[in-house]
Amino acid sequence: MTKPRLRIAPSPTGDPHIGTAYTALVNIAFAKRHGGEFILRIEDTDQARSTPESEIAIFDSLHWLGLTWSEGPDVGGPYVPYRQSERREKYDEALQVLLDKNAAFKCFCTPERLDLMRATQRKQGISPKYDGACLHLTPEMVAEKEAAGIPHVVRMRIPKEGTCTFEDGIYGTITTPWEDVDMQVLMKSDGMPTYHLANVVDDTAMGITHVIRGEEWVPSTPKHIKLYEHFGWQAPQFTHLPVLRNPDRTKLSKRKNPTSILWFKAQGYLPEAMLNYLGLPFVKLNEGDEELMTVDEFTDKYDFAAVSKAGSVFDIQKLDWLNGRWLREKLTEEDYLARAAEWLEGDIPKAALLLAQSRIVKFADLWPLVAFMQTGANLSFTQETFSSLKTDAATTQAILRMAVDVVQNLTPETPENLFEKLKEGGETLGLKPRLVTAPLFLAISGSAQSLPVTESILLLGKEESVKRLQSALNILK
Ligand code: GLU
Repeated sequence: MTKPRLRIAPSPTGDPHIGTAYTALVNIAFAKRHGGEFILRIEDTDQARSTPESEIAIFDSLHWLGLTWSEGPDVGGPYVPYRQSERREKYDEALQVLLDKNAAFKCFCTPERLDLMRATQRKQGISPKYDGACLHLTPEMVAEKEAAGIPHVVRMRIPKEGTCTFEDGIYGTITTPWEDVDMQVLMKSDGMPTYHLANVVDDTAMGITHVIRGEEWVPSTPKHIKLYEHFGWQAPQFTHLPVLRNPDRTKLSKRKNPTSILWFKAQGYLPEAMLNYLGLPFVKLNEGDEELMTVDEFTDKYDFAAVSKAGSVFDIQKLDWLNGRWLREKLTEEDYLARAAEWLEGDIPKAALLLAQSRIVKFADLWPLVAFMQTGANLSFTQETFSSLKTDAATTQAILRMAVDVVQNLTPETPENLFEKLKEGGETLGLKPRLVTAPLFLAISGSAQSLPVTESILLLGKEESVKRLQSALNILK
């Protein structure tokens, strides 16, 4: 294979979508495996919806994931500019080529006529598509309408008969009858190109050899292939990626699932785990095979033949599981502590953070779990806090008093030793260990779910722990 060139071409509208990361990952792996280049182009021909903030969010979120590109609007490269709004004259020239060849035509139909046309087609059970009314305009009629200042778009000609066939890297041979393909608008009435024209012109200008993009573009591909043909350009090889789906198997949407990369960042997912998760649909795994993988391992392992064409469900529980494993198994202690530091609002002993490592799914879980470890943390418990316990108020008080006694007499201990002493104390009250530790969890951490209580007591120290046990006692009085 000659050195391949791949790209993603996101549109800077809204929040950076998880699908962009998914597509970028596969493009990058393909480029890496074959010693090629991966570039980023911004497709902002939809001026009404594109924003600079969204463009920056795309760069930032992909960088957060650890993904990089060798050419792009932010890094430059031999084919600048990489932002379509700055390449208008290239599309004008290309459009003229198509008009001169009679491969495109000017269409003066009003939006009202087109709406009516589509409504009628729908009523007839036909999927809406341009009916070709302006195909029959003579050059004189076109000149007249232009002279009268009637706005127009430019549409591409589509053959009336025959089929378009292409080989897709995942879906195999895809054949589409031309009669199912619309006479796509290439240039809007405001003179802006549509995605279809700009995409084909730029992929050619930028030497793109392989287009790997979402499955939703399959119906557009015959149009693109026809454009390449009209221009006399070599079309790239196409691979369409099955879409990510909501658990109900509809296309992943933010109404049903978080879809913004920024959301996952804000939740404290690990970028490595996110990419690992997004890569799983491309890897053939047998029962018992390791699912944890780095991007480099993904680059070696991905296999388009392994992909389910039906698309895969974006399963956040699976992502949580994977993220938890990354946290526990893949991060070194040093790396974990460095990343954890960004999520803390105060000083927390290192030992407590290490205890939390196996108990959190993502970093957003960290602070609620360890905040109680701050000396003087305000636990704000009330009598209500203790009402869920299996022990009655008098027994709970007896346990707390026993614990005060044990903790006050602490000599340097191990958690196991301390547990033994509390257990013995419980036995003298005729109580099983589980009943003894439950109120202690609440008194020490303010929560039934927290770090192990004996470790917590030892880390907080005698004075702070006794203070907390005493204040619980005061509340229960
Ligand atoms: N601008 C298109 C998008 O937002 C790019 C599609 C393609 O890769 O051709 O997804």
